[in-house]
Amino acid sequence: MDFSISAEQHSLYEAARELGAREVQPSVLERDKSERWDDGIWKKMAAGGLIGAPFPEEYGGAGLSAFETCLVKEGFTYGAHDGGVSLAWGASSILCGVPIWKLGTEAHKKRYLPKMCSGEWIGAFCLSEPGSGSDAASMKTRAVKKGDRYILNGTKMWITNGPIANHFIVTAVTDPEARAFGISTFIVDKSFPGFKVGQHIEKMGMNTSTTSEIIFEDCEVPEENLLGELNAGFVVTAKLILGWERSCLLAPALGGQRANYEAAAKYANDRVQFNRPISKFQAIRHMIADMKIRYEIGRNLIHRVAWHLDAHGGADDAPPLLEAAIAKVQTSESSQKTARDTIQVFGGVGFTKEYHVERSLRDSLVGTIGAGTSEIQRSIIARSVLELGF
Ligand SMILES: Cc1cc2nc3c(=O)[nH]c(=O)nc-3n(C[C@H](O)[C@H](O)[C@H](O)COP(=O)(O)OP(=O)(O)OC[C@H]3O[C@@H](n4cnc5c(N)ncnc54)[C@H](O)[C@@H]3O)c2cc1C
Repeated sequence: MDFSISAEQHSLYEAARELGAREVQPSVLERDKSERWDDGIWKKMAAGGLIGAPFPEEYGGAGLSAFETCLVKEGFTYGAHDGGVSLAWGASSILCGVPIWKLGTEAHKKRYLPKMCSGEWIGAFCLSEPGSGSDAASMKTRAVKKGDRYILNGTKMWITNGPIANHFIVTAVTDPEARAFGISTFIVDKSFPGFKVGQHIEKMGMNTSTTSEIIFEDCEVPEENLLGELNAGFVVTAKLILGWERSCLLAPALGGQRANYEAAAKYANDRVQFNRPISKFQAIRHMIADMKIRYEIGRNLIHRVAWHLDAHGGADDAPPLLEAAIAKVQTSESSQKTARDTIQVFGGVGFTKEYHVERSLRDSLVGTIGAGTSEIQRSIIARSVLELGF
C-alpha cells in the first residue's frame, strides 16, 4: 500500500488551489448573496484543465486518475471556498461526463466530451423526481419507443445545473413491470422538442450553483441517445456513478474542511481574550484538533474509494459499496461539524456573512441529503455488518 503523493500530484493540487483562490474566492460572497452563476469562472476552470480532469486526452481531458481528480477537486475548493461551483463541477463532470465516458458509444464521447472539457457545454444528471428521492427506482418518468425515437414524459426535481446545462443524463422507465430492471438512461439535449426547464429552486446554500426542475412533455429523443443497454440503465448507471460520487464528488468537502480549520486556527491565534490568544484555551484547541482528525479520516476514506476506481475502473466492476457509504457519511457529517465549530471559534463574527464560515455551514448541509442521505448510507453499512446483503 502506498500513501504517498508525488511531487507532480502535489503540483496539481497547488495549481487548482491557486486558480480557485485567484479566480473564484474573491467574488464568492457577492455571488452567494445574489445567487449568481458566473460562466466566466467556468471557462477559466476549463482552461486550467479542471473540468476535463478525469477524461482521456483524446476527448480534450487531462487524463488524470480518480485519485488525482480527487486531489484537484479538494485543492480547488480549498482555494475557492465555494461549495456551489464545486457542486456544479461535480454534476457536470462526474454525474454527466463519467457515464458518457464509461458507457457511451464512440459517437457520444466525440460529440459531448470535448465541448464539456473546453467549458463550452455544461452537463447535468436527472434522477430525482418530486415523488422519488431515496427510492429512486420508483420514478415515474416514462420513455416509450416510437419509430426511431423515444418519447419521454415526466418531471425531474432538484437538478443541479438545470437552467444552464446543454445536455442531461436522464433515467426513465422503459419496462414498468420490472422496477429497477426496467429503467434506461438517455442523453437528452436541451434543444430536443418537448424539453423544458421548470421552476428555478431557491436554496439555503450552494447558492453559487443553479438548481431547477426539468420537464419532459412528449420530449423526442433519438434512439441513438440511449446510453448503455435498454433496461440496464438504473443499475449500471447507479453502480458506475456510485464510486465516482463517493470519491471525486465528495473530495471538495475536504477542501472546505481544510479552509475552515485553517481559518479557525488563524483566528484563534490572533484573537485575544483574558490577555492571551484564545488558542491558549484547551476548549478551543480541542475543537481545532478534532477538525484536523475528521479531515484526515475523511481524506483516507475518499482516497481508498478512488484507489478502488483506479485499480478496477471498468463500467461493470462492483463498486466498493460499503467503503463508499462510510466515506459519504463520515465526510458529509464532518463538514457540517467542522463548519459549525469554526463559527464557534470565531464567536460573534462567525455568525456574520463576511467571514465565509456561516456560508460554509449553509453549503455543507446538503452533503447529508444529496446523492444518498446519511440514513440510507447507514442502512447500507448496517446491512453489511449484520450480513443481510444489499
Ligand atoms: C441542492 C441539491 C442538489 C441536488 N442535485 C441533484 C441532481 O443534480 N440530480 C438529481 O437527480 N438529484 C439531485 N438532488 C436530489 C437529492 O439526491 C435528493 O434530495 C436525495 O436523494 C434525497 O431525496 P428526497 O429529497 O426526495 O428525500 P426523501 O427520500 O423523501 O427522504 C426524506 C427523509 O426520509 C429519510 N428516508 C427515506 N428513505 C429512508 C429509509 N429507507 N430508511 C431511513 N430513512 C429514510 C431520508 O434519509 C430523509 O431523511 C439534489 C438535492 C439538493 C438539495
